[in-house]
Amino acid sequence: MQPLSKLPKLLLVNIGQLLTLQSASPVPRRGASLSELGLIEDAAVLCLGGKIVSVGKTKNALRDPWIKKHGKQIAEIDCRGRVVLPGFVDSHTHPVFTHPRLVDFEKRIPGASYEEIAKAGGGIRSSIDGVRKATKLALTEKLLTTLNAMATHGTTTVEAKSGYGLDFASELKSLEAIRAAARQWPGTVVPTFLGAHTVPPEFREKRQAYVDLICNEMMPAIAKRKLAQFADVFCDRGAFTAQESEQIFRAAHENGLVLRAHMGQLSETRLSPFLRFNPASLDHMDYVNEADLPALSASSTVATFVPGANYFLGLSRYPNARRFIEAGVAVALATDFNPGSSPTLSMPMAMSLACTHMKMSPAEAIAAATINAAHALRLADRKGSIEPGKDADLAVFGITDYRELPYWFGTNHCRLTILNGVVSHLPES
Ligand SMILES: [Zn+2]
Repeated sequence: MQPLSKLPKLLLVNIGQLLTLQSASPVPRRGASLSELGLIEDAAVLCLGGKIVSVGKTKNALRDPWIKKHGKQIAEIDCRGRVVLPGFVDSHTHPVFTHPRLVDFEKRIPGASYEEIAKAGGGIRSSIDGVRKATKLALTEKLLTTLNAMATHGTTTVEAKSGYGLDFASELKSLEAIRAAARQWPGTVVPTFLGAHTVPPEFREKRQAYVDLICNEMMPAIAKRKLAQFADVFCDRGAFTAQESEQIFRAAHENGLVLRAHMGQLSETRLSPFLRFNPASLDHMDYVNEADLPALSASSTVATFVPGANYFLGLSRYPNARRFIEAGVAVALATDFNPGSSPTLSMPMAMSLACTHMKMSPAEAIAAATINAAHALRLADRKGSIEPGKDADLAVFGITDYRELPYWFGTNHCRLTILNGVVSHLPES
């Protein structure tokens, strides 16, 4: 990482549509406010020392005496009428793995069962074997490649989970790889401990012993070494029961880790025992009990949808985003990047699926992928909007109307990404 004083002074001008996502209050967007993008036409943004300093109209920026005086030291980026928005905050990813799960993919198409896929050498077992055998350096290099690819799609902040090691040494190794990659990437990485991803094969007959291992050994060691900010648990059928998840939540709380959880992907779990712990986010939420929505909307917990998983698994059911939004729940979008169920790192793809399958508007999808996703990581004081004082995280797209972002699905229109003030140039097309 460069020292802040060495970061260039940047002035973006001639922005056709600048989506600032500025808020009057520091709370997640709910209901109608989810559609407010803070759009400025013919805009300019000045960034100094990795921070956003001023936001306004191009003509005012070019007349500004300070900018005129320091013109020679300022790198000017002519956005030529394009769309600029806050860098995406991908608040749910599983990027520490070694290889794609092609056996799963191919076998699932004609309808193979989980057992048949596992027998053919696929399934989560193959990801666990890969991570356990890999060196920390190999995991770090792979992760760095992924983070760079995410940046080329406009993502500047990434939550990264462990969860394919599932033994003490391999979970530690995964989190250390996240830390090492984060130090080499100009964007921001938020590490999450997901030892409670699934019960590893060697503990299948003694589940409680694995839950105890997570709570009593892994969690304190990880907290002590500050290797994770969050603890996550996959609470669902076939993963961890509500009772086991509560034990894990309690341990995380005692160890000072902020909570988040995979909830309601395959089956419904009542939320009240978990909301007591004030989790930052509950993710998936394909299945939820209607009676839980008032308590969820009254909390600061964000519901994060990951429609890439529904798409890739060929599901016809998607989370009922409209119901959540109408109930006043703060919603976010993420990729759920992982080798088994969502091998996409494209936030615009997740947004496109949110529009076409979850009936979110393009404006709602953008707010869910930026400012609300920042709230889902408890980083909204620094991330998710373009306003003075926040980190200089911006993405420039080769489009002239923000609605094109989810419209051109499957094509990457990101032309330039700025990560904490560091410019990542991308090939023109
Ligand atoms: Zn996940």
